[in-house]
Amino acid sequence: MRVPTDVLVVGGGPAGLALAAELAGRGLRVRLVAPHPPRPFPPTYGAWLDELPAWTLACLAEVWTDVRVYTGEQPTPLLRPYALLGNARLLGALLARAGEGLTWTVGTVRGAEQVGEGWEVHGTGGETWRAGIVVDAGGHMGSLTRPRHPGGAALQTAFGLVAHFDRPPAPPGGMVWMDYRSPHLSAAEVREAPTFLYAMHLGGSRYLVEETSLIARPGLPRALLERRLRARLAALGTPPREVEAEEWVAFPMNAAAPCPGPLLAFGSAAGLVHPVSGFQVAGALRDAPILAGAVTGALGQGGPAAAARAGWAALWPPERRASREVALLGVEALLGMPGEQLPAFFGAFFRLPAPEWHAFLAHRTDAGTLARTMLRVFAQAPNAVRLPLARAALEHAGPSGRALRAAWDLR
Ligand SMILES: Cc1cc2nc3c(=O)[nH]c(=O)nc-3n(C[C@H](O)[C@H](O)[C@H](O)COP(=O)(O)OP(=O)(O)OC[C@H]3O[C@@H](n4cnc5c(N)ncnc54)[C@H](O)[C@@H]3O)c2cc1C
Repeated sequence: MRVPTDVLVVGGGPAGLALAAELAGRGLRVRLVAPHPPRPFPPTYGAWLDELPAWTLACLAEVWTDVRVYTGEQPTPLLRPYALLGNARLLGALLARAGEGLTWTVGTVRGAEQVGEGWEVHGTGGETWRAGIVVDAGGHMGSLTRPRHPGGAALQTAFGLVAHFDRPPAPPGGMVWMDYRSPHLSAAEVREAPTFLYAMHLGGSRYLVEETSLIARPGLPRALLERRLRARLAALGTPPREVEAEEWVAFPMNAAAPCPGPLLAFGSAAGLVHPVSGFQVAGALRDAPILAGAVTGALGQGGPAAAARAGWAALWPPERRASREVALLGVEALLGMPGEQLPAFFGAFFRLPAPEWHAFLAHRTDAGTLARTMLRVFAQAPNAVRLPLARAALEHAGPSGRALRAAWDLR
């Protein structure tokens, strides 16, 4: 007799596998369906060291203590260690945490229907998998569910190179989180489509350098970012000697809090990308045990439907929904800001006391803290930055405006 599946997870990215591992580690039978076998996650994943769960310390490829931003000619040291995840080690650690309870099935999910208390999930190859609970961890556009992006998707895009350099393109031994100096761009280019350098020294003559558009609607095209990266390196007098790999980054930043339904979602499919930084992985590694705990507990007591409800409540409690409304207001403010003002905006942001900007970039910060931080940046910023911030608050005086005002009243 075949062993029934408690949970089917769609997607073998960091979110899907982290959740599958936590569920299997709690004794549930989990099937993960992805079009590929287990493989190290392709993107380069960075995260603040203090946001990663302790067990991931064994999975780090690099940690930098020299972490800087440039919002003017002089660097601002961030005094906050930043880590690069070793994706092969992370994959191995997650598979080990999952143990025997996880079955990885290579396939592509095309649909799912509720049958009795559970689900029948259909694959493009004609397969049918049965499970009590289904979780969509199919990435930024979802697989069985569809994240919503108010006003249309606003994308973070970046073009990067991992390459060897004869002269360092960034500080040896360090990482540059954001360098808004633009010796390679005209004033008009900066105004219309601001981009910054994100760079890591990977040891020896090896660096990752990425020309990054923090957020734009529509997103900047790959060819433009590649041209800009090469122009920046030429302007710095540090062309790459030997290119090892290219990286293309493009994903939406402005997902709304999802509507709970009978299917669960997790990771970027559940709108869990941070709307201002674009980070998601550290948050997924932290949220996975919370979601798995809620699902496992409710499954034992009330069955699959109760487990799905408990999962949504654990993942998107009312405070998190309110805080997403405030963060989306920040997104609209960034989108409406003339490009040449972004360095001044981030200059004011990084002058805040460290606990405040850390909290702003964290995954589960409440709406009141987010709103207070935004108001402090507003107070510190020059007038040219304040104007677009105020305009965004007025133009988006819907739920996010109300959340901001409520937070202000509660301060
Ligand atoms: C190049 C790049 C760099 C990034 N860098 C960072 C970073 O440094 N730090 C950070 O926190 N975030 C980063 N992000 C943002 C985000 O965290 C990542 O996109 C992350 O991979 C999202 O994880 P996920 O598991 O939700 O989705 P994904 O990693 O996209 O995984 C989705 C999975 O679902 C599978 N799938 C999709 N559809 C189906 C289907 N129908 N059936 C079965 N399987 C399906 C896919 O094959 C894949 O296995 C980056 C994103 C990109 C693109």
